[in-house]
Amino acid sequence: MSTIFKKIIDKEIPSDIIFENDKILCFKDINAAAPIHLLIIPKKEIATVNDIEQSDKELIGEMFIAAKNIAKKMNISEDGYRLVVNCNDNAGQTVYHLHMHLLAGKKFLWPPG
Ligand code: 5GP
Repeated sequence: MSTIFKKIIDKEIPSDIIFENDKILCFKDINAAAPIHLLIIPKKEIATVNDIEQSDKELIGEMFIAAKNIAKKMNISEDGYRLVVNCNDNAGQTVYHLHMHLLAGKKFLWPPG
């Protein structure tokens, strides 16, 4: 089932796009949990980490490459950043379209709460 992120991909609803190519979209999270809070998503509709297939392995790699390149462009590579992927309810997933949070601009605690 499609989510709000599909509407963002299709530009049916606006978002602050940071990066886009044929496979990946990166945009600002509407409810930032850090000074920099981006979402990196595949354009392919994959609901959760549980739904990733073997044939998606290159696409998943593209998400990390996008994260690395975006971090470099935003000059946060050296200071550091956190990548988070929530899977299902216990992790707090609210949008069932696979996404990687890129959080930066502050020092994060570990382990998270
Ligand atoms: P999750 O909790 O599923 O890991 O993260 C979903 C994220 O999507 C949340 O941080 C939430 O703020 C963000 N989000 C939900 N709806 C929208 C939207 O319409 N636009 C944008 N830019 N972010 C959204």
